[in-house]
Amino acid sequence: MSEQSPTTPGRPGHITDGPADPEHDSSAAYGLDRSYVASLTRRVASTSGETHAVSSPIGHTPLAHVPQSSQADVADAFARARKAQVSWAATTIDQRAACLLRLHDLLLDRQDELIDLVVWESGKARKDAYLEVAHLALTARYYARTAHEHLDTQRVGGMFPLLTRAEVHRVPKGVVGIISPWNYPLTMALCDGLPALLAGNAVVAKPDAQTMLTALLAVQLLDEAGFPPEVWQVVAGPGPEIGGALVAAADYICFTGSTATGKLIARQCADRLVGCSLELGGKNPMLVLRDADVQRAAEGATRAVFSNAGQLCVSMERLFVADQVYDRFVDAFVSRTEAMTLGAGHDWSVDMGSLISQAQLDTVTAHVEDAVAKGAQVLTGGRARPDLGPFVYEPTILEGVSADMQCFGHETFGPVVALYRFHSEDEAVERANDGSYGLNASVYTRDGARGRALARRIKCGTVNVNEAFGATFGSLGAPMGGMRESGMGRRQGAEGIHRYTEAQSVATQRLVPIAPMFGMSEEVNAKVLTASLRLLNKLGRA
Ligand code: NAD
Repeated sequence: MSEQSPTTPGRPGHITDGPADPEHDSSAAYGLDRSYVASLTRRVASTSGETHAVSSPIGHTPLAHVPQSSQADVADAFARARKAQVSWAATTIDQRAACLLRLHDLLLDRQDELIDLVVWESGKARKDAYLEVAHLALTARYYARTAHEHLDTQRVGGMFPLLTRAEVHRVPKGVVGIISPWNYPLTMALCDGLPALLAGNAVVAKPDAQTMLTALLAVQLLDEAGFPPEVWQVVAGPGPEIGGALVAAADYICFTGSTATGKLIARQCADRLVGCSLELGGKNPMLVLRDADVQRAAEGATRAVFSNAGQLCVSMERLFVADQVYDRFVDAFVSRTEAMTLGAGHDWSVDMGSLISQAQLDTVTAHVEDAVAKGAQVLTGGRARPDLGPFVYEPTILEGVSADMQCFGHETFGPVVALYRFHSEDEAVERANDGSYGLNASVYTRDGARGRALARRIKCGTVNVNEAFGATFGSLGAPMGGMRESGMGRRQGAEGIHRYTEAQSVATQRLVPIAPMFGMSEEVNAKVLTASLRLLNKLGRA
C-alpha cells in the first residue's frame, strides 16, 4: 500500500494558521480565515451565544467555532420558514427550477472551494469529495429538468367519462425538517432539500455538528443561486438536544443516519402523524458470480468497499465469491487493495483518506480486533496508521468471519470487508438476504440479463450489476433507499419529490349528480349504475 505524507499537500486560500493568541481572540473562529467563517456561520439560527468547535481530522487546530441553536432558535427558524414558504409556493415551477439550474452551474464553478472544505472537515480523499459535487449537480439538474413531469396537475379518469372531470394537484407539505449525517457532508446537506424546495416547501436543516461548515457553504450557494434565504433555515447543535424540537415543528421529516436514530424519529413522527423518510444503515452484499470478469470485479470491489474509507451507507461490507473464481478474485482484490495510496491530505493522488473521528476509528479497530480474536484472518490491512493521520486506518480484507463476530452482521461503517466463498447462486442469494438490513447490493457477472434476474431476488432497495453503487446512486430517475431496517421512503426519482407533497384530488361533476335522478328509486338507480359499470368495463376503461 503506498502512502501519502501526513503533511497536507495544499492549503486552500481560506486556511490560516490562526491568531497568535487564540485564547484572547474575540472572534468565534480560528484555523480558517475569520471573515470567511463569518460569511458562512451568519446563516445559523442562533441567539444562544454558545459555539461548537469544528475540528479537522487531518489538521491540528479547530477549523472554526460554529454558533449553536437553542430549542427556541429552532422554533424561530420554523416561524420564519413558515412565513417565507407562502410566497415561495406562489412562484412558478419554472422560477424555482431556474434556481436549481443556477445552483448546478455554481456547484461546478466553485468545486475547488467546496472540495477543499469537504476534505478539511471529513478527512476523505479528494476524489470522494468530488463525487459529492457531481452527485449534487446531477440532483439539481434532474429535478430542474423533470419539474413539470412531477409537479404539474394531472388529469385522471373521472368516475363517468365526460361527466366527471378529475384532477390531482401536488400541494407542498409546508416546512420540511432535514437531518443529515457527516459522511457525505455536501451532498447529504442539500440533495434531499432540493426537491423539497422545487415542490414549494421551505426547509429547516440540521446538518451534523462535525461538518457544519460544508453545509453552510452549500447554503451560501443556494442564496447565490437565487433561492430566497428565508426558505432555507439552518440550525446547529447536537441531534439529541435539538432534534426533538425539529421533529416537533416540521410538516415532514427527511432523516439520514443510523437505524437506531431513525427508529426514534419514526416514533416521534408517528405521535404527530407527520410523514417521514428514513435513509439508514446497511450491511451491503456484493456477489461475484462464477462467470464474472475477475479483474473488473476486483477493481469494482476496491471502490465498493473503500470509497470514502467505507463510511458510505451503500458501500460493501460482505463479499460473496463463487468457488470457481474465489482464489483468482482474492489475489486480484488483495493486490489492488495493497496498491492503493493511503493518506490524509488534499491531493488527488490519495485513494483512501482518513476516517472522520476517534469514534469511527474506535469502532473499526474494535470490529477488526474482535474478529481476529475469534479466529478471522487478515488478508491485508488491519492496522491504524497514526503516522499518516490521527484517524487513518488501513483498507482491510478479512477471511473466516463467522456469526459470533461483531463485523458479521453489524455495520462497521469503515474500510473493512469480509470475504465468503459460495457454491451455488441460491446459497449466495440466501446469505446476501440474511440479516435485517436491505440497502444496496452489487452483482458481478459477464451476463447482464442473468445479473438483472438475480438482482430481483435480493432484498435491497438498490442493486448494481457490474458496478459498486455509482450506477444506481448516479441514476437520478431511479429511486434510492432501503428495504427492511435500512429505511423507509426513497430519495431520487418521482418518489424523491412526491414525498414532499400532498396529493390533492379535485373532481367536478357535470350535468348529472351521482345520485338517483328523475324520481328514480335507490333500487332502480343501483341497477342503472350496475349496467353502466359493466359497460365501462367492456369498453376497457380504468
Ligand atoms: P446518527 O443517527 O448518529 O446521526 C445522523 C444525524 O442525526 C446527525 O445530524 C445527528 O446530529 C442527528 N441525530 C442524532 N441523534 C438524534 C436525535 N435523537 N434526534 C434527532 N437527530 C439526531 O448517525 P451517524 O452515526 O452520525 O451516521 C452514520 C449512519 O448514517 C450510518 O449508519 C450510515 O449507514 C447512515 N447513513 C445512511 C445513508 C443513506 O442514505 N441510507 C447515508 C449516509 C449515512
